[in-house]
Amino acid sequence: MHLLYVDEAGPDNREYFVVGGLTIHEQGVLPMADALEQLASQLPDRARGAEFHAGPMRRGAGVWRRITPQQRAQLRQALVELLTQGAPGSQHAPVLFAVAMHRASFPHHDTHERAYEEFFARPNGLLGRLANAGDPHRCVAIADKSTLEATLQRLMAVWRAQGASTGAAIGRMAAYAEVPLFVDSQASRLIQLADFVAHWVYRAYEQDDTSVLDQLLPAFDSEGESIHGLVHLIHDYRTCVCPACISRRR
Ligand SMILES: [Zn+2]
Repeated sequence: MHLLYVDEAGPDNREYFVVGGLTIHEQGVLPMADALEQLASQLPDRARGAEFHAGPMRRGAGVWRRITPQQRAQLRQALVELLTQGAPGSQHAPVLFAVAMHRASFPHHDTHERAYEEFFARPNGLLGRLANAGDPHRCVAIADKSTLEATLQRLMAVWRAQGASTGAAIGRMAAYAEVPLFVDSQASRLIQLADFVAHWVYRAYEQDDTSVLDQLLPAFDSEGESIHGLVHLIHDYRTCVCPACISRRR
């Protein structure tokens, strides 16, 4: 079994909407959670129990105000390392996925519906390749209850109503064992990793800040030079020079 942690970034009034996250083998979950708790325990008192919420952490807002920029940068790099190399001693490194949707390119689409369909199709593709290679797994998506449950329940209803007319609806994708499950992001640090991925993909496309995405790229699902895990949904992908569009044109 693989767990797919999902989060999103990009408010309605911005150019981009991003869905991002990671899959990890069930046996990789505990070592990863332990590594994240270990990082949290090294923080000064007031930040120890805090969520690793990428936006406030980057800006030094809220509980992160009293944490020095150096400490925040160190934590960010430690998270990059966990995402690209996996937890120390674990054989199960995460695989990253993200869809960055340029809203204006799809004026007649429901942004959430289009982006989430594309997103859920990607881990489905990875698990299909694993199954073809003799390593069959199912997957369960896990998302933050407070921020994503309403959106995803609405989409599930839409996809159910569309029935077989859409190949990308999560309920019809072979890899998914169950509908998405919802947890409190405070209780799951792996959900916080999904937030980290979504945030830094959003920063790359919305703000042209690729400092972290560049480092995360090797961890996205890929085969040779084809990056399956990172998708840039934009009308002009033929002229875009981002790694996802370059890979798509190959
Ligand atoms: Zn692009």
